[in-house]
Amino acid sequence: LQYKCDWYGKKLIQVNPSYTSQICANCGKNNHRLELNKSEWLAVREWDCPNCGKHLDRDINAAQVILQK
Ligand SMILES: [Zn+2]
Repeated sequence: LQYKCDWYGKKLIQVNPSYTSQICANCGKNNHRLELNKSEWLAVREWDCPNCGKHLDRDINAAQVILQK
């Protein structure tokens, strides 16, 4: 990715992906997999943030958290 960014004059920013699927993009709270174990959490595609009540799509939420970082 770095050389492709160089070709087009773009800046590559690397982000630590830890917790990006469980942090709410709306309020910023880390919801700790909603207390589910890892395999149960991986099966969750949509969830409601217990802190702010926002309904979240797993992938869209993670993308928004990464963008905020
Ligand atoms: Zn929230």
